[in-house]
Formats: sequence, C-alpha cells, structure tokens
Amino acid sequence: MTQEAMVNAFVEGAVELDETTAGMIARRKRLLGPAYRLMYERPLHFVRGEGVWLFDPDGNAYLDAYNNVTSIGHCHPTVVEAIRDQVGRLATNTRYLHGAVLDYAERLLATMPDQIGHLMFTCTGSDANDLAVRIAQSYTGGKGIIVTETAYHGITQAVSEFSPSLGPNVDLGVHVRCVPAPDSYRSADVAGEFTAAVEAAIQDLKRHGIKPALFICDGIFASDGVFDAPAGVIRGAVEAIRAAGGVYIADEVQCGFGRTGEAMWGFQRHGVIPDIVTMGKPMGNGYPVAGVAARPEVLADFGRKARYFNTFGGNAVAVAAAAAVLDVIEDEGLLANATDVGAYLKDGYRQLATRYPVIGDVRGAGLFLGVEIVSDPVAKTPDAATATRIINGLRDEHVLISGCAKAANVLKIRPPLVFSRENAAQMLEKCARVLSRLA
Ligand code: PMP
Repeated sequence: MTQEAMVNAFVEGAVELDETTAGMIARRKRLLGPAYRLMYERPLHFVRGEGVWLFDPDGNAYLDAYNNVTSIGHCHPTVVEAIRDQVGRLATNTRYLHGAVLDYAERLLATMPDQIGHLMFTCTGSDANDLAVRIAQSYTGGKGIIVTETAYHGITQAVSEFSPSLGPNVDLGVHVRCVPAPDSYRSADVAGEFTAAVEAAIQDLKRHGIKPALFICDGIFASDGVFDAPAGVIRGAVEAIRAAGGVYIADEVQCGFGRTGEAMWGFQRHGVIPDIVTMGKPMGNGYPVAGVAARPEVLADFGRKARYFNTFGGNAVAVAAAAAVLDVIEDEGLLANATDVGAYLKDGYRQLATRYPVIGDVRGAGLFLGVEIVSDPVAKTPDAATATRIINGLRDEHVLISGCAKAANVLKIRPPLVFSRENAAQMLEKCARVLSRLA
C-alpha cells in the first residue's frame, strides 16, 4: 500500500454503497485478493477518459486533478495513434537494432545535463529504481541507502526496503537510513537541517560498518508532503553523499516530464546534476515505459559485469508512445502551461487559506501542489481527519485529488499538465464549497 492509498483508502463497511459498487468491490476482493486498496470512502468506477476528464458508466464527468501517468491528458490522440500505428507494424525488443529507440534516447538525453550520457529502459518506476540501486552499488562498492522518512520508491524487494511510506508492516533494510524531509512549513533553516540529517545518517551507516552507496529523493518530496522550497535544499546532502563515496539518484518518476513547471526535471530546480536519474509514470502517458539515465562513468562497472535485458523495456511500442509524449509536451507548450496554471492554482489556494484557517500552508511547483491541513494554524497541528473529509468532499463534487505526508494531512494536487485556468477556477470553487460546508 503506498502512502497515497493509505491516506485515503476505502474502508469496508464505513459508508453505505450502492449495490453495483458493493458487488464490484466484493468480486474484486474475491478475485484479486487482499493486498489491493481503493481510493475514497465511496470508490469510483471509470470507463472512459478524455483530456482532464474521467467518466463513470452513467456518463458523469470528474475533473482529474490527481493522475500523473496520463500527464498530457487522458487518451491523448497523438499518443493513441502512435501506439496503434507501432503495434500494428512491429513490437520487438532491444536485442534487435531499432532506430526509434536510439532517436528517443538522443532526444531524452538532450533534455538533461551533458554529464548524463546513457539511457536504459525499464517498464515501471520500481523496475527503474531497482536497476538504479544495482548500478549505484556496483559503482560505489557500498550498500548503504539514505531516503526521506515518508518516501515511496516502489515495490520490488530491494526497493520496498527503502520505501518507508509502505508503513511499519514492511521492513526497511538494515542498510537503510531515513531522514526527515525538508519541512519548509515548520523549519526556518531547512537546507541546514536537511544536510545535517543526511550527514548524521552517513555517519550512522559507517558506525555500523556499512559503506554508503546512495542518497535518493525526488525533487519535490512528493510522499513526504510536497516540499518544493527552497530551491537548492538538497545541494548539501548531495555533496555529503559524494564526499562519503556514494551517489545521488534523482527519482523523477513523479516530478519528471515537466510536472514542476519551469524545467523538464525536478532536480533542475535545485541546481544539482544527479549521478543517476530514474523516470516512469508520465513517460508513456499510460503505456508502461520507464527508464534509468546515468553518467557513463557511473554505469561503466555495472555494464562490464552484468548483462542487461528487459523484455518489454524499450520495446518498439513503448518507445513510440514515449516519443509521442515528448512531441506533445513540446508542441502544446506544457511546461509553460504547468507554470502558469500552477501559479494560478497556488494563488487560489492561498486566497482560500485567508478564509479557511484549516489551510495551514500552500506549496509546490508547477502543477504539483501540496495543501497542508491543520487543526491549529499557530501550533501547525496536522489534521488528517479534516484532510480526508476534504478529499472525499471533493470526490463528491466530482474533483479528484488525494493526500500524502507522514501525518496524512496534506492534500496532494497533481492535475494533468493540460489543466487550464478554467479547470483550476472550477476546482477552487468546488474546494471553497467543501471547506465552507466543513467550517
Ligand atoms: N518512485 C516514485 C517517486 C513513485 O511515485 C512511484 C510510484 N508511485 C515509483 C517510484 C514506483 O513506480 P511504479 O509504480 O511505476 O513501479
């Protein structure tokens, strides 16, 4: 269970459901087993998507302000056509020569700093992080991993061991150390405190005879509560891990591909150049495609020792989808749109905060916002119950968001990059309605 699902998971028996929904839930449980979770008090069933909208079987439209896989809009015709065309011609893998995979790698790497020179393909973000760790451990000869305390990086055995947001039932590795995320709402010196925490984690690993291999974070601390500021907050941590012989992995699975507005990648906001970058989710707008980009010198040792083949990773159809996504980001000016609409939305939430003291803090970059809900704005006391009520209230108003953070009290707002100011205004109006009902 990821942090996102945990914050807002459906609880069986908590509310009365219509017969169709209850029946589907029971059938799902019987067939898919006990490990899955559903979002919202009253789970949703969608049959179609288009742009920023999702539609239920009765044709009701829901404004999607949450799903970041379909980042350029649900069922974008350019991507749909690219997939349809490629799957009708050829669907082979990276053991054959294929020009499109090279063209894509060239294009993708051109969006990154020059130091990052190789791109490898995987199918999921977990798969990418798993590979990144193998590369980092091979390069450094170390095992130790430093993450933030509510981070989520994926589901494989190795990656779940450094995904504390999976909760206390999933054991962290003995080689893993957690540090608090840079909480700009509560600390006046986030950068100093964050650097000091990473330095202390490095010392603790060493004290236990574990050589540090890597520090991994996403540029906006998504699961920790969406902390975007100050830009550069991770610089000291990156210097510290490198000084200890480790590498910095930028997990761009959530904040890559223009999500944070002014740049294609979340790490760029911090003015740091990663050793390894992992990506996924929005890369194929719904088609499973993910990847690992790295500095050639970091990848060299792994490449010598290991033979890498990922059956579906980098297959011709995945690459066609991914290339179409880059086309759309460029052609539709989506970075500029994320910056503009994101600022508009943030400003709107800040105005709501002046009327509703439950909104303690509004933060984020581009179209990735965190709105922190508190019971006491002076003491900044987290209020998960009210956050959950807002999330479910918005769901009933046909607007989709979710939650995050260690205390499960931050609204996580992450609309498709094609979100317009009109969509944002609509969302703000509905949020005001929910807040006034709760007040
Ligand atoms: N890293 C981050 C930051 C993520 O948000 C996720 C997915 N929520 C992953 C990795 C794992 O990606 P996937 O679900 O595609 O395996």
